[in-house]
This record gives sequence, C-alpha cells and structure tokens, in this order.
Amino acid sequence: MREFAYRRTSRIDEALHLVARHEGARFLAGGTNLVDLMKAGVESPARLVDIRSLTLDEIGETPDGGLVLGATATNSAVAADPRVRGRYPALSQAILLGASGQLRNMATVGGNLLQRTRCAYFTDTSEPCNRRVPGSGCPAIDGAHHNHAILGWTRHCVATHPSDMAVPLIAFDAVVRYEALDGPGAIPLSEFYLPVGDRPDRETALPDGALITAVTVPAVKAAGRSRYRKVRERASYAFATVSVAAALDVRDGVVQDVRLALGGVASRPWRARLAESALRGGPLTAERISAAADVELAAAEPLRDNAYKVTLARNLIEAVVTELAADTGEESNG
Ligand SMILES: Cc1cc2nc3c(=O)[nH]c(=O)nc-3n(C[C@H](O)[C@H](O)[C@H](O)COP(=O)(O)OP(=O)(O)OC[C@H]3O[C@@H](n4cnc5c(N)ncnc54)[C@H](O)[C@@H]3O)c2cc1C
Ligand code: SF4
Repeated sequence: MREFAYRRTSRIDEALHLVARHEGARFLAGGTNLVDLMKAGVESPARLVDIRSLTLDEIGETPDGGLVLGATATNSAVAADPRVRGRYPALSQAILLGASGQLRNMATVGGNLLQRTRCAYFTDTSEPCNRRVPGSGCPAIDGAHHNHAILGWTRHCVATHPSDMAVPLIAFDAVVRYEALDGPGAIPLSEFYLPVGDRPDRETALPDGALITAVTVPAVKAAGRSRYRKVRERASYAFATVSVAAALDVRDGVVQDVRLALGGVASRPWRARLAESALRGGPLTAERISAAADVELAAAEPLRDNAYKVTLARNLIEAVVTELAADTGEESNG
C-alpha cells in the first residue's frame, strides 16, 4: 500500500481546501470501501481527509415532510431511524439487507452512494479494466459476467452498481446535496450516476473535489407502503444479484402512484419508469403487473451467462408489487 498523509478536520471549508489543494487527495468517511481498495492497490490517494468530525451526521426533517440524511450518518443510524422506518420502510430494509452490522456501523450515506463496483476484474490489478484504467479493455464481456449488468451497459463496461440503499432512494426521487469550493449544489439521484458510455471511469456527476453534505428524500405518500426485496447468492453478507424497491398507492382499485427501481442490473440503480407508467392510472391486475415488468425488461441485453437475471427481475417485480397490493388490501386479480 502506498504511503499517504492523513488529516482530520471539523470544518467543511477546510475539508474542501485540503482536498482541492492536494492532487490525489480524497475524503475518508467510514473507510469500508476506500481503504479496501487502497489495500488492493486499486486506489492510491496521496492524502486522506477524514470527514467524520464534520457535523454532517444528522437525520432531520425537510419543510415538505421529507427527510434530510446527513452525509456522514451511518447506515445503521439511517436504518434504525423511526421516521425512515415509518415513512420509507424500503430504505430501512435495503440498508439492513446490505453488508454486516459492523460494516453498517461504519459505513455512511455519502460513502455508500460512492462505493465502487464489485466486478472482480476491477479489484484485480493484474487484469485490464476500462473502469480502473481507461482504454485497457473489459475482460468481463467475454469472461466471468454471470453477476453483471443486463440493462444500460456498453462494450466498454458491463459492471453493476453495488449499493442497496441507492435503489429505494432513486425510487423516492432523492437529491444529493454537496458543497464545492465555488458553492453548494444539488443533483437528483436519477442524474447522479453517469451513463456508462465509453468512459466507465467517470462514474458520477459530482464535481471534482465536491463534498456530499446530505441526501434529501421528499415526502412520497406511496413510500409509506414500500418494500425492498433482494436476491443474493447466500443468505447474508452478499451484494444483490437482483433487487427491487417498490412503493404503491392504490385507491378505489386504481393505481395513483407507483415507484419501482431495480438493483444489480445496471451500472447505476435502475429506475423502472416504463413499468411505473404501465401501472399508473389503472387497476392492479396480475396481467397489468406482468405486462409492466415485460415492458421494462424489453430493453434487457443479457450476455452469455446472465440471462437468468431477466427472468429473476421480472419475477421479483411481479412478486413485490403483488405483495404490496395485498398489504394495501388492493389485491391483484384476474
Ligand atoms: C464485506 C462487505 C460487504 C458489503 N455488502 C454490501 C451490500 O450488501 N450492500 C451495499 O450496499 N453495500 C455493501 N458493502 C459496501 C458498504 O456499504 C460500503 O463500503 C459503504 O457504504 C461505504 O461507505 P463508507 O462511509 O465506508 O465510504 P468510504 O469507504 O469512506 O468512501 C467511499 C468513497 O466515497 C467517497 N466519499 C465518502 N463520503 C463522501 C462525501 N461525503 N463526499 C464526497 N465523497 C465521499 C470517498 O472518498 C470514497 O471514494 C459491503 C462492504 C463490504 C466490505
Ligand atoms: S465490467 Fe467494467 S469494471 Fe468489470 S472489467 Fe469490465 S470495465 Fe472493468
């Protein structure tokens, strides 16, 4: 592991300057991803600026009845917060289905959104990888890709985004707030992760050197009845093979609002807007749920070994929406 300088600060302006002034400097939050990548030689920052003493760990209310999740609030604190559990149960469930208790006690909101892919070639510095070394190639396309993307990928990279938390957050229209040297900014999570294109190493729209300060989640009526389901290769401590976050508001048999997002299928959390449109404004029948899943997955382009994810994603959407409908007393029929 390369030697690095370490600074801890309790001031946002100082943290921003410490990163901006030193090439290769990085913010350090819980360290559960960055330090692992440093040990593997994938990341080699010259300086770490520890942000855990910044007062950015609060979970608070927004005027519209939504929530502000401080960037350094731990995953455990967010999952346990009674307002998160009551108003956005899928968010709490998603966090609790990720990593382990010890990791969740260290991992933070900002770090979770910015964690890097778990593609095995990415973390193996003896292999080429366009995401790690631009232009070096993507061995996963013809190699081991059974757990890789089926939607939105390109020949340049077929990796998935590993965050569970980001899946319900994108379904609930969360917004990433940041501070940069030239002032504050905000990016809807739906625009935060860049399409893969031909530069998979450019992962987010966060300006260079910007510090995420919070994620705001607006009030979403449907979110009160939401659910997160994650299929993984073992019962605990594994990243999603496919996951679904769903929220449903049905009144008098008509879908007023539905939110659907998928994890484990693309380089970013995948908002299933086509499926949402297919369900909104009509009754919640088994045929309509099935058609909604089909319309979303029509664009799927599986590789040699991951076509099973298309079936899995379809089945998960159907199962979760049907379960939510039963919870709301608006059981699907037909
Ligand atoms: C064994 C294991 C299993 C796991 N399983 C899961 C799982 O099932 N699901 C899941 O979602 N995750 C899982 N994780 C990943 C874990 O959730 C992430 O490592 C964690 O959320 C990262 O948060 P952190 O605070 O430790 O980030 P760090 O490692 O400190 O930082 C990660 C990146 O974010 C940057 N950063 C951090 N905070 C900010 C900020 N405020 N502003 C700007 N940049 C910032 C850092 O510079 C770094 O580049 C697992 C991790 C491990 C080790
Ligand atoms: S899928 Fe992406 S991360 Fe994996 S080897 Fe290819 S370029 Fe690298």
